[in-house]
Amino acid sequence: MRRSYKFLLRPTAKQALALAACLEDHRRLYNGAVEHRRTAYSKAGVTVRYGDQSADLKHIRSYDPDGQGRWSFSSQQATLRRLDKAFAAFFRRVKVGQKPGFPRFKGRGWFDTVEWPKDGDGCRWDSQPEHPTATFVRLHGIGHVRVHQHRPVLGRVKTISVKREGSRWYVILSCDDVPAHALSATGAVVGLDMGVASLVTTSDGTHLANPRHLQASAGRLAAAQQTLARKKRGSKRRRKAAARVAALHAKVRRQRLDTAHKTAVALVRDFDVIVHEDLRIANMTRSASGTIQTPGRNVAAKSGLNRSILDAGWGVFLTVLAHKAESAGRELIAVDPANTSRTCARCGHCAKENRVTQAEFICMACGHAAHADVNAAVNILRAGLALREAVEAA
Ligand SMILES: [Zn+2]
Repeated sequence: MRRSYKFLLRPTAKQALALAACLEDHRRLYNGAVEHRRTAYSKAGVTVRYGDQSADLKHIRSYDPDGQGRWSFSSQQATLRRLDKAFAAFFRRVKVGQKPGFPRFKGRGWFDTVEWPKDGDGCRWDSQPEHPTATFVRLHGIGHVRVHQHRPVLGRVKTISVKREGSRWYVILSCDDVPAHALSATGAVVGLDMGVASLVTTSDGTHLANPRHLQASAGRLAAAQQTLARKKRGSKRRRKAAARVAALHAKVRRQRLDTAHKTAVALVRDFDVIVHEDLRIANMTRSASGTIQTPGRNVAAKSGLNRSILDAGWGVFLTVLAHKAESAGRELIAVDPANTSRTCARCGHCAKENRVTQAEFICMACGHAAHADVNAAVNILRAGLALREAVEAA
């Protein structure tokens, strides 16, 4: 199994400067390589390849020992490879007749990650194992940077990346051969309905992860974006407003991930089989009917942003849930959510009128009354179990 870990870095002031310089030089290298490919293509019709650019790297480094020469050869190659991927995707899309944008120059703030493709090559995870209380990662040209390692790292570290998010720095490890931790069977199954009032409602009637704090952040983010839009381009105030927007974005991302983790851990602990809506299908039907049917006054103005934040919240949650389920040996089933919110879980009567309000479900045929999300979750569970039976019978 492969798995990644993300830890906060605690660089010294000097290391933080070096990290910024390292990122900036990799950005320039990337942009230089974009320029090189563009000119060669537009002036001479020549396609420059990764191999050519990687070979040029040697010269670039020897001409600029105090600049590009300071950093790891391998991390620079990884940056060039990233550009190569962007170009490959570009040409692939041109080939099928789409009109993609040419790979772009990365402005400051649009290039936030440096990757070292192999532990031990220009970087070393846990570089001071003899230290009694702290973990360090050694990065070529930067030094031994202290890591806030809040959980154990399992498996073999393969790649090491450093990422800037606002004013924070993170190290991201990608590990191979992570042992799976199977949990003992609980004999319980559950269906999940993903909604707005609660991120997740279970078929046994529990509402999990009320995203109210997410919505509060979304409100602040919307306000900050409006402020930003009013500032003059290139002004100092605009830079400040942009930094605030970036910080709020990062906060929303952290909250989302935290919520997803807590919710997924609880579900995987309690259930052997978890059935959820197939989000790709769900989003299509949702955008057609609109999820926020009875918006409050504030929600209407910000519903676009709220929606996108919640959508991303569901996506992150399902990704985390899939990882946790796999490592715990739990079964995850995705089902088509069509009609699950308007079908009676007791008698199967399907009508739009069954859904009285956002929260209330009353069956027009048999009178069954329930919370609308719970009713939907029961239908989702039933659909998943039916699907499972069909697969086993085949
Ligand atoms: Zn009914």
